[in-house]
Amino acid sequence: MTDNAPRQFNFKAETKQLLHILIHSLYKDREVFLRELISNASDAINRLRFEMLTTPDALDPQAELKIHITADKDNRTLTITDTGIGMTHDEIVDHLGTIAQSSARKFLEAAKEKGQDASGMIGQFGVGFYSVFMVAEWVRVTSRSFRPEAQAVTWYATGDDSYEVSPAEMNERGTRVEIKLKEDAAEFAEEYRIKNIVHKHSDYIGFPIYVGSEEKPVNKQTSLWRTARNEIKEEDYKDFYRQTTLDFEDPLLRIHMVTDAPVQLYALLYLPARSERNMFSLRKDDGLKLYSRNILIDEYNKDLLPEYLRFVQGVVDSEDLPLNVSRETVQSSGLMPKLKKVLTNQVVKELENLAKKEAEKYNSFWGEFGAYLKQGIAANPAEADVIAPLLRFKTNLHPETWSSLEEYVSRMKDGQTVIHYLVSEDSKSALRSPHLDSFHAKGLEVILLTEPMDSFMLMGLRKFKDYELKSVAGADADGEDPARAESEAEKIPEEDFNALIGRFKRVLGERVADVRASKRLVQSVARLADADSNSNPDLQRVYKYLGREYEIPKKVLELNPSHEVLKNLLKLQADSELGDIVIEQIFDSALLVEGIHPDPSSMAPRVQRIIEAALAGK
Ligand code: ADP
Repeated sequence: MTDNAPRQFNFKAETKQLLHILIHSLYKDREVFLRELISNASDAINRLRFEMLTTPDALDPQAELKIHITADKDNRTLTITDTGIGMTHDEIVDHLGTIAQSSARKFLEAAKEKGQDASGMIGQFGVGFYSVFMVAEWVRVTSRSFRPEAQAVTWYATGDDSYEVSPAEMNERGTRVEIKLKEDAAEFAEEYRIKNIVHKHSDYIGFPIYVGSEEKPVNKQTSLWRTARNEIKEEDYKDFYRQTTLDFEDPLLRIHMVTDAPVQLYALLYLPARSERNMFSLRKDDGLKLYSRNILIDEYNKDLLPEYLRFVQGVVDSEDLPLNVSRETVQSSGLMPKLKKVLTNQVVKELENLAKKEAEKYNSFWGEFGAYLKQGIAANPAEADVIAPLLRFKTNLHPETWSSLEEYVSRMKDGQTVIHYLVSEDSKSALRSPHLDSFHAKGLEVILLTEPMDSFMLMGLRKFKDYELKSVAGADADGEDPARAESEAEKIPEEDFNALIGRFKRVLGERVADVRASKRLVQSVARLADADSNSNPDLQRVYKYLGREYEIPKKVLELNPSHEVLKNLLKLQADSELGDIVIEQIFDSALLVEGIHPDPSSMAPRVQRIIEAALAGK
């Protein structure tokens, strides 16, 4: 075999599968193949521009950055040429012999799930280079890398199991894709048809696209984010989102901003409808695409928005970023914090607007991303003031709807000086919590915190405006005495009550910090209050959620001196076994309502005995 002879390679199994689907697909919008090839060409030019910043000896430094499409109707051929980065021999084998981690792979995954229907999704996914085999009898790719020492190379395939690679003659930098169209695809050799497709799918490609011998580019050439807002159709915005994320659900919110001060920037940001990326998502990581004057500098930049807004998708482009920056030095350039500040403020402002104007959409946003914001407060208490207005909660008085802290404050009773909250496992047990007894009695509103993230959030959120947040489970949380007067008469006399306390202490021993009478209980027999009002009462939950070993912190068991159960308990002998069992159960139930019972099922045998005793007494 001489050096110049073509070498044959086999496609990887995955690629064969994909080719098989494409060749046999009855997909009617085959024109998307051109969009894919143009997009590859544009990527290649983008990457070249980036390389040129640091590689002064690139081949053909003066060549115009462009894409050229020519067609020959009689021969049914179509050629797409770009002056982009090009490929070396190894790169061409690597890139065109295997499926990149791209939408083509996602498509294959979907195809496996969907079987025959899959070809209907080709257009949505954009299966990349290989989509050309929907229309091609054969394809020849000839390429020359921008690296001055690299040789030109040709890749040739018919869509069978193998492809050929051989050395080529090509003097210019870039890539030429020649396509022999299938008979039934002859339309793609018509110039008017090609121009149409370019307008429809590739108008915003940032480099000129020439068709045939025309001297004027057929595409608009500005990127979408640099286009004036009033020239953009809603559909363009949605298309852009879909194509860059492969999320087929419309975004919840779109932010297109252009600013000049304090920094120059264009940004096109989207809030996805869901927090989970779908399995087909193109985005492999969080972060925004960062462009400097239309050149992609960083695909997943995480320094443009705070972590708690990491679900935001989109593009940021700034003229102020120096062009000779590498991806690494972008991070250290003093501009980043400024960009971040402007972007963060804008996103927060738009979210507040959304809440005002489209409450339902906002609630949907909150349902998906609320936990991120709560986490944001936990991680950056300094940002609590910025994030707090975005928070939403259910409360004891409005358990079905979301309320903001602002709304809570506007509903506060005269003389109320703190924002009350209750941490609980879920909203049902929250509403039954004995801690709420006196608040219910007085009609006081209490925020119900029922999500794991709430406990973390509380570590950073101790105040809203001038109002401190205060747990209703604290031992000193009373002060607000419910209407006790009428129940005063029904209280167990002090002497008896002290004896009762003695019994509880004997049975529960070390498990409680203390047992005492409560001033605050109305409906409930007992509650567990936090012994030390200075410690963060929510920390124990944080440990629990983190999966750390945690010991139930000792709490103060407060008893309701007017409660029938306790009165009946007094009627039992001081050493009655049933009495001890009931005391155990009162304690266990209190742990349960607090959501800190270590082993609820252990109660079953005891509950059974109590039932038996109750029935026997009837
Ligand atoms: P994707 O573009 O989604 O990565 P493709 O199958 O379309 O997947 O292309 C595979 C790879 O081939 C690209 O990632 C790129 O590295 C290379 N490639 C394709 N077209 C060109 C081109 N015109 N110039 C340079 N490289 C290209």
